[in-house]
Amino acid sequence: MVEGNYEKILEKIARASGLDREEIDRRIEAKRAKLAGLISREGAAQIIAAELGLSFDKEKLKINELLPGMRKVNVIGQILSLSPVRGFTTKKGDEGKVVNLIIADETSNIKVVLWDTNHIALIEKGEIGEGHVVEIGNGSMRANELHLGSFSELKKSKEILEKIMKDKVVKEKNISDFTLPDSVSTRAFIVQAFEPKFFYVCSECKKKVGEDFVCGEHGKISPEKRAVMNLVIDDGTESIRSVLFHEQLSKIGMTDLDNSEQLLKQKQELLGKEMVFSGEVRINKFFNNQEFIIDNIQEINSDELIAELEKK
Ligand SMILES: [Zn+2]
Repeated sequence: MVEGNYEKILEKIARASGLDREEIDRRIEAKRAKLAGLISREGAAQIIAAELGLSFDKEKLKINELLPGMRKVNVIGQILSLSPVRGFTTKKGDEGKVVNLIIADETSNIKVVLWDTNHIALIEKGEIGEGHVVEIGNGSMRANELHLGSFSELKKSKEILEKIMKDKVVKEKNISDFTLPDSVSTRAFIVQAFEPKFFYVCSECKKKVGEDFVCGEHGKISPEKRAVMNLVIDDGTESIRSVLFHEQLSKIGMTDLDNSEQLLKQKQELLGKEMVFSGEVRINKFFNNQEFIIDNIQEINSDELIAELEKK
């Protein structure tokens, strides 16, 4: 059910080595057993690739083939957007700059972080900008982002990319594989539900207002009531604290927001419910832990589920 990174690596090694996938999988498991399970399947796969003399250094990868931990990454993509150049001072007192880009190819899109002043100068001079296709060499994956340092290359490419993937790509993942930051979906059970909290927003600009119902921009306004709720969801690999905003509450059956007795009952009925949750993994700065901001919830489609099980 999870579109695994492992499958992708397996496929790449199979293609490059000519061995079949079962054989590679067997070698990977043997390597892991030898290392007493101290290494992930992905890590063991990279060792096997090295032992087979395979190197992906010179190879251009597609964006959906980029995996956390990969080094010396080469990829081509079109710039969908870029952030303003931001300056910062390191703890040592050095001045630095950073720029974030989103690049896309036909398979996916990814955030690219530029740290090298020579690369950033290309952007400041307007030589590289939105809509341009760029060729990246020797980048490093940090979590789900591609980082370019002074040893990396960035240049304009003459390649024309057609049908690039502009939409946000949501990956199906186990909760234990959630990384920061990430757009993911997971099928999980609701194991804990907290009481919804209410607040008010300005009916004009939808910004939060206090109990006095005064908006900074619109003055005294007629407020709209909003709710936010915390859940803990668990998919069997791990659990995660999740945040659910107003629009999502009705999708899990929290409809009686003005009737506290009914609401309590509806909250009770959530426990044990299994659904597909999509959203963003973020760090909660207050608790300093990961949290999942849910922006979509789907019922489990039993037909799809059966079809998926039959594939296995
Ligand atoms: Zn307002």
